[in-house]
This record gives sequence, structure tokens and C-alpha cells, in this order.
Amino acid sequence: MYHSVQTGYTFGMPDCIFCKIVRGELSSYKIYEDDATLAFLDIQPVNAGHTLVIPKKHSTNIFDIVPEDWQAVAETVRKIAIAIEKTGADGVNIGMNNREHAGQVVHHPHVHVIPRFKGDGLKLMPQRSYKEGEAEETANKLRASVS
Ligand code: 5GP
Ligand code: ZN
Repeated sequence: MYHSVQTGYTFGMPDCIFCKIVRGELSSYKIYEDDATLAFLDIQPVNAGHTLVIPKKHSTNIFDIVPEDWQAVAETVRKIAIAIEKTGADGVNIGMNNREHAGQVVHHPHVHVIPRFKGDGLKLMPQRSYKEGEAEETANKLRASVS
């Protein structure tokens, strides 16, 4: 039963797998939690130690998460990055997929914190160049859209 009004994020969305992890109905390797966030190992890691940081309260992605939850997630991401570094990683990648065409599969906000090691050979971002005038046009559109 969905108790969102009375009980807030403790119960969350019934069919969301990350809400199930928050409720303890699905097991996970928890790394850290506080009142607003949870960090646990990704079940299919890019590298061992690949951790997901989520808000405990259900939302969908960067487009609807409330600022307080996003701020809490960002701070937990910082803690996890430092923990990963202490365990011997040479660096970390931090990423988030938002909506289907950006590769989001689980529709509860989550930030990937991925340990990186010298020579691991992973390449996350395709690269391209701007055509003549394209950077200026792109920057202008973005500037006008910041609220
Ligand atoms: P997305 O593609 O939505 O950014 O990433 C979803 C991530 O969640 C994937 O990397 C996937 O391995 C991870 N994942 C999916 N189901 C589970 C699960 O039940 N437990 C854990 N720990 N991770 C999961
Ligand atoms: Zn959820």
C-alpha cells in the first residue's frame, strides 16, 4: 500500500527498485546512509566499488528532484568519492543518466560514483568538435535558459 501522504519517503513508490532498497525489501551492499540519502554498490559495476548515491525520497531524475534532496545527494557523492580514493583508486568518474534517451534505466535519481584505475582503459565520453559558430550559438541558447 502506498502511504506517501501520511508517512513520507519511508514507504516511497511501491514498484521502484531503489525505493525497495531504501525500505530493505531488496538487499544491497550499503556503504553509507544518512537521513536523506543512501549509497550502495551498483549490482553491475563498471569497476569494483562502483557506488550509487540516491535520495531516500522518491523522485525521478534531475528534472524533478527537490533542491534539498539534490544538495544532500551531492554531499554524499563527495563523501563516497573520498572513500573510494582512500581505498586505492587513482580517480573517480561521477555521472548521472536523466531520462530514457540519456540512458536512465531506473527511474529514481541516482548518481554513479565510479572508481578509476591507471590503465583501466575505460572511455566514458565520445568526443567531437564544434563547427564554425556552433559553440557561440549553443552557449547563447544555454545562457538564455538558465533560471
Ligand atoms: P542507470 O542506467 O539508470 O543510470 O543505472 C541504473 C543502475 O542501477 C545500473 O548501473 C544497474 O546496474 C543498477 N541496478 C539495477 N538494478 C539494481 C539492483 O537491484 N541493485 C543494485 N545494487 N543496483 C541495481
Ligand atoms: Zn523510488
